Amino acid sequence: MTVDKYTYNQQEQRYEVYRSSPARRFGDAGIMALIGFALFAAYLLVSGSVFNAPTPKQLVLERRNARLMDRIEYIGQKASRQVDRLAELEMRDNKVYRPIFGMDEIPSAVRNCGYAATGRYAFLQQFTNAGFLTETLRRQDVIERKAVMQSKSYDDVEKMASHIEDMAKCVPSLIPVCPGSGITITSPFGYRLHPIFQSVFFHSGTDISGPRSTPIYAAADGVVTEVKYSERGYGNEIDIDHGFGYSTRYAHLLSTNVVQGQKVRRGDQIATMGSSGQATGVHLHYEVMYKSQQINPANYFDKNIDPRTYMTMVTPAAKINHR
Ligand SMILES: [Zn+2]
Repeated sequence: MTVDKYTYNQQEQRYEVYRSSPARRFGDAGIMALIGFALFAAYLLVSGSVFNAPTPKQLVLERRNARLMDRIEYIGQKASRQVDRLAELEMRDNKVYRPIFGMDEIPSAVRNCGYAATGRYAFLQQFTNAGFLTETLRRQDVIERKAVMQSKSYDDVEKMASHIEDMAKCVPSLIPVCPGSGITITSPFGYRLHPIFQSVFFHSGTDISGPRSTPIYAAADGVVTEVKYSERGYGNEIDIDHGFGYSTRYAHLLSTNVVQGQKVRRGDQIATMGSSGQATGVHLHYEVMYKSQQINPANYFDKNIDPRTYMTMVTPAAKINHR
């Protein structure tokens, strides 16, 4: 059943049956569809933003989270700078401070040892920024570990520095024979042609020649560790341990006037020059060892020291036992 619609005709002053054309009917339906679609789209938009919008509490937490991340990043950057500064301190410690006192470098493997075990940072894996947090915490651990090691090294250096006077007395800095007429360095430290075997070999000491029975003095304070006749061609030989890694050897001696275990001071007469063992002439074969390695004795003594000054620094054998 259809219901007729009427419209009022003003000019003719009567009601007429309303006839809608197909085009008009289609137009009305299109407008209605558009309005419906617009309403639906608006609903989707509004409902979406309403349901997904963060709550005020979430907003506060998000802002706090962002601030925390900024702070962690700042701490991470600071840690990087501290690691760089510690690396400089380590370098100076290894290359300057420790060598002054004859201390070995601390290898980087030792300085960096510690938290190598995996799993230390596993608990961070539950967080969104696990990688970033792990790296930041790892840097902090590195700083802590290196700082502890550096502090320990400074303690050792300080201990050595407090013994600097003892150490200075133990460095073999006195040439063991008084320089003067008839005293010459005939063979320096290093490779040379052997005078007896006529072959190139390493000369582990310095040869100082002079008249037979020339007094020989201890190059530094120490303890006599050997007084013997050497089977290695050194003849009568004295070894002295000076401590702090230093020791000296005196060979081809004519006579000795110290005994094993005896404490000596720098300048104490310990022997006289001779040619015992495999020697082509009267001379002292003098060696300096530092941490069991033979080093050039001439780097330690002053061969141009004035003989009169030298004689004020030494004690003849006859006086040693009466002081
Ligand atoms: Zn020699």
